[in-house]
Amino acid sequence: MNLRPEEISSIIKEQIKNYENKVELTDTGSVLKVGDGIASVYGLENAMAGELLEFPGEVYGMALNLEEDMVGAVMLGDDQGIKEGDVVKRTGNVVSVPVGDALIGRVVNALGQPIDGKGPINTNKTRPVESEATGIMARKSVHQPLETGIKAIDAMIPIGKGQRELVIGDRQTGKTSICIDTILNQKGKDVICIYVAIGQKRSTVAQLVNTLEKGGAMDYTIVVSASASESAPLQFIAPYAGVAMGEEFMFEGKHVLIVYDDLTKHAVAYREMSLLLKRPPGREAYPGDVFYLHSRLLERAAKLSDELGGGSITALPIIETQAGDVSAYIPTNVISITDGQIYLTPELFYAGIRPAVDPGISVSRVGGSAQIKSMKKVAGPLKLLYSQYKELAAFSQFGSDLDEDTKKRLAQGERIVEVLKQGEHQPLKVENQVMIIHAVTNDLLSDIPVNNIARFETELFQFINMNYPEIGKKILENGDFTQELTNAIKEFKKKFVIEA
Ligand code: ATP
Ligand code: MG
Repeated sequence: MNLRPEEISSIIKEQIKNYENKVELTDTGSVLKVGDGIASVYGLENAMAGELLEFPGEVYGMALNLEEDMVGAVMLGDDQGIKEGDVVKRTGNVVSVPVGDALIGRVVNALGQPIDGKGPINTNKTRPVESEATGIMARKSVHQPLETGIKAIDAMIPIGKGQRELVIGDRQTGKTSICIDTILNQKGKDVICIYVAIGQKRSTVAQLVNTLEKGGAMDYTIVVSASASESAPLQFIAPYAGVAMGEEFMFEGKHVLIVYDDLTKHAVAYREMSLLLKRPPGREAYPGDVFYLHSRLLERAAKLSDELGGGSITALPIIETQAGDVSAYIPTNVISITDGQIYLTPELFYAGIRPAVDPGISVSRVGGSAQIKSMKKVAGPLKLLYSQYKELAAFSQFGSDLDEDTKKRLAQGERIVEVLKQGEHQPLKVENQVMIIHAVTNDLLSDIPVNNIARFETELFQFINMNYPEIGKKILENGDFTQELTNAIKEFKKKFVIEA
């Protein structure tokens, strides 16, 4: 077909005219109503889900409900200055956060803006907060340990790099402490840590940053905070922002540990947002997609294949339960998404057994493949002896005359419980963990009174470190340390002074 030049120019002219019209209609809209951090915007027909929208006064919002001629958006900044009829523009970008090394050591909000008063963050790299999780072909099975430095966990519920391990328990049972100790334990281990605080008090977060600073952990840690006083949309975005920052490192082949403290509050923020957006409520008034809220987040934790650089993101989500009810909606969802759970109970916590980890019901589906050989060797008998002791202790509560063997096993069990106690912010090296677990499982502590065990432990490490430093090395290199270690412990026992 041949077109005459005049025709072509008229077609183009027509198109240009319509093009401008279209822009008018689809790339800008006007505010219908605004309030409670939610705006209904007329127009914006081409807006994408999750797109950043610009309101007057450089206030931004995120498009969430896409309807035929309207968009429901959540405000990411102050909505006070916004009024009906205001013009809203599409930006063409989904919500993104700055990423890269410049963030390390910083405290930022859910949009990656600094809130620590240490000046701007110098990076020009960004990543969208929402992105698809790495596919199965790009992954490798979890096989490297991510040591927490906590005996009860590293020995009995080991965590591997790339795993998602849930920390779950009632309020004030030491959930945050376990995660902070794990961050402290990554010092010098080439793991970048990201702590995401959701819906917590500002003062709590400040204290926590202080603890990390004192422990030298801010050198390799990013804190993302959306506190209780911030809007629900910001609390909603915070964990995705955190994991986006983590992905940048993971795809560079580095290892990342991310803590979400906590996902209960995250779900509550999402519920608030959804109800304001008039999405239909379901069970416990959560919207129907609340499972997807957490599954798409936790799926982004991964251990990449060697071809992709072998980087990893290990996730420690936290869930707070009410009176130990793990069958509530959000807890069951997150339990089913994670590959292991660390259960903390108030009973243990108040009995002085801290960390209050219940090894009987806690699991790690990665198990021994995330332990060094030496640890695996001592951890097997530990688990067995511990569960046998629990059974025996429950059984022998009522009996007064117990046979010698039972008495012996009870005494050993009490010492196991004592050895697994550990103070806050005192992560222990894996070689030391192996030493003391070896001592208790081989029944070398039966003649040490329970109230002397903690001091025995500290002094034993000093003794071995000073006199037999090669034992620690052998443990780390998975050599045969058994006889040497037993001899060293026996020798130390002769020197140890028992105090009443
Ligand atoms: P919340 O529900 O308020 O978030 P949480 O479950 O995160 O609480 P933490 O804040 O970690 O609990 O700890 C509760 C209290 O117990 C804190 O005062 C903390 O110092 C103390 N604590 C935690 N772990 C230990 C421990 N291993 N030894 C002694 N005290 C501990
Ligand atoms: Mg906490």
